[in-house]
Amino acid sequence: ADPINDVEQEVEEWAAQKKSEIESLRQQEKFRRDFLSNISHEFKTPLFAIQGYIDAVQDDDFEDKDMARKFLEKAAKNVDRLSYLIKDLDEISKLESGEIPINYTRFKINDLIKEVIEASEMKARQHKIKLVFKHKYDDAVLVTADREKISQVFINLVDNSIKYGREDGTTSISLFELHDQVLIEITDDGIGIEEKYLPRLFERFFRTDSSRSRQIGGSGLGLAIVKHIVEAHEQTINVRSTEGLGSTFGFTLQKAKQQIQFPNIPVLKN
Ligand code: ADP
Repeated sequence: ADPINDVEQEVEEWAAQKKSEIESLRQQEKFRRDFLSNISHEFKTPLFAIQGYIDAVQDDDFEDKDMARKFLEKAAKNVDRLSYLIKDLDEISKLESGEIPINYTRFKINDLIKEVIEASEMKARQHKIKLVFKHKYDDAVLVTADREKISQVFINLVDNSIKYGREDGTTSISLFELHDQVLIEITDDGIGIEEKYLPRLFERFFRTDSSRSRQIGGSGLGLAIVKHIVEAHEQTINVRSTEGLGSTFGFTLQKAKQQIQFPNIPVLKN
C-alpha cells in the first residue's frame, strides 16, 4: 500500500463530496430565488389591475355609472385572485416546512368521496357539470391516510375538473382496488391539456396558456399542493390527458390493514 496514494484518494473523495454539497446548496438557493420572483410576479399582475380600475373610477371626468360598476367588479375579481394566492401560498409553505405532519387514521374512502361530491355539487351545477361516483362494489374500502389532507386533494382535483370542464360535461370519480392500495381517478371531459405541458403541470405557479387566456381564476398552486400531499403519504399521482377531450388525474392510497374480527362467543356460565 502506498500511504501517499491513500491520502490523495481521501482528499479527492472529500473534495468531491464538498463539491456536491455546494452544488445542492446552489440549487436550493436558485429554487428560493425563482420562487420569490414567481410570487412577486403573481402578485403584481392583479395589483396593477386593481390600481388601474380604481384610478379610472376616481378620475373627476368619469361619469358613466355602469362602466364604474363594471370596473369595480373587475377590481373585486382581482382581489379574489390575491386572496386565493395568499391562501394557497400559506398552505404550501406550511406543508413544505413540515409544520403540519401527516396525521394517519383509518377511514372509509367511499364516505369521503361522497362528502366531496356533496360539497362540490353547487359549483358543478353552476357550470352545468354532472358529478358521478363509480365503484364496482357496494362495500366501502378502508384506507390509512390523513383524512383532511386527502379531502383537500379531492377538492383541488374536482375543482379543476369543473373549472376546466365543459358545459353539460361529466366529472367522474372512480375507485379501483389494487392489492394493498386503492387507485382513485378523477376524470373530466373538458378542455384537456396539451401533451407538452404535462411534465410541468405539478410545478408551482405553472398554468397552461389556454387557462390564462380563458381568464379562469386560480393560483397555479393547486396541483403543487396535491402532489405534495400525495407524496408525503409515500403514494403516487399521475395525469393523462388529450387536448380537447379531457383529463384524468389518478392517485393511490394505502389500504388499511385488515383488523382481525374476533368472533363474539357467548360466555358459558354454569
Ligand atoms: P390553477 O389554480 O391554475 O387551477 P393548478 O395547479 O390547480 O392551478 O393547475 C395548474 C394548471 O393545470 C391549470 O392552470 C390548468 O392549465 C391545468 N389544469 C389543471 N387541471 C386541469 C384539468 N382538469 N383540465 C385541464 N387543465 C387542467
